[in-house]
Amino acid sequence: MERLTNISTVRQILSRHGFTFSKALGQNFLINPTVCPRMADFAVTDDNIGVLEIGPGVGVLTNELCARAKKVVAVELDKRLIPVLSETLGEYENLKVINADVMELDLNALIAEEFPGMRVAVCANLPYYITSPILMKLLEDRLPVETITVMVQKEAALRLCAEEGTRDSSAITAAVRYYAEPELLFHVSAGSFMPAPKVDSAVIRLTLREPEYKPMDEKLMFRIIKAAFAQRRKTVLNAIASGMSLDKSELSGILEEAGVAPTARAEKLTLRDYARIADVMTKGGNNG
Ligand code: SAM
Repeated sequence: MERLTNISTVRQILSRHGFTFSKALGQNFLINPTVCPRMADFAVTDDNIGVLEIGPGVGVLTNELCARAKKVVAVELDKRLIPVLSETLGEYENLKVINADVMELDLNALIAEEFPGMRVAVCANLPYYITSPILMKLLEDRLPVETITVMVQKEAALRLCAEEGTRDSSAITAAVRYYAEPELLFHVSAGSFMPAPKVDSAVIRLTLREPEYKPMDEKLMFRIIKAAFAQRRKTVLNAIASGMSLDKSELSGILEEAGVAPTARAEKLTLRDYARIADVMTKGGNNG
């Protein structure tokens, strides 16, 4: 465990395997010994939990997860890391490593097959080039997962965990809040990684729950949210009309019926407001 946060040990293992870091795959490995145990403690709250890890790298977080969880399935895209992981984590019988792109996997099928009878959590130090697509896939696939504990760039953490109605909120904040309750757990400095990225990071946890208010057409609601935030300095009337090519006077009637001020800015609307706008459009047969 300590071994994998020791820079010279990790360098030796990697050079033995002829491994060089790929920037394109977001390979910044954790070398701060305090971070992974903390992340694993937040993710694994009892010993009947199965953990899906994305991007194990050399296995520094995986090691902590295996020590706590009933089973860990780690999905790593870079095939050069598979023999490295056999060397670093070969001793664990509760670990399965899958060489695949997480974006290509049917995660519902994987969870049903790998974690029968277990509660499931996701835990990862995410590759930053693909943070939002991975999180949206995890949420939109409606996985039978209780929590998602992930390291992301600090700016992304602030956006993902922003309160509704604040300047940090964005289309992804609304999407996350639709499916989950987000919490910012702790900050991690850039120097905790090898190689060190340019920005600091933070660990967040999303606790999944049923949406508080479901529109008839979820996809439509997310299109409206995206259009509103794409031009967030404009009024929602102007932003949604231009983003969805809608007639302004018609949209104005829709907003009025939904009880939303046309002059408001995107961040001032609640999820319930967006759901209402979508429902008025659906009922009126106007879905952009
Ligand atoms: N967990 C390790 C740690 O904390 O040191 C490594 C984290 S590193 C930020 C991200 C890892 O994700 C890398 O090992 C990278 O190869 C892997 N990765 C990148 N894109 C991926 C994808 N689409 N599917 C699965 N793994 C991916």
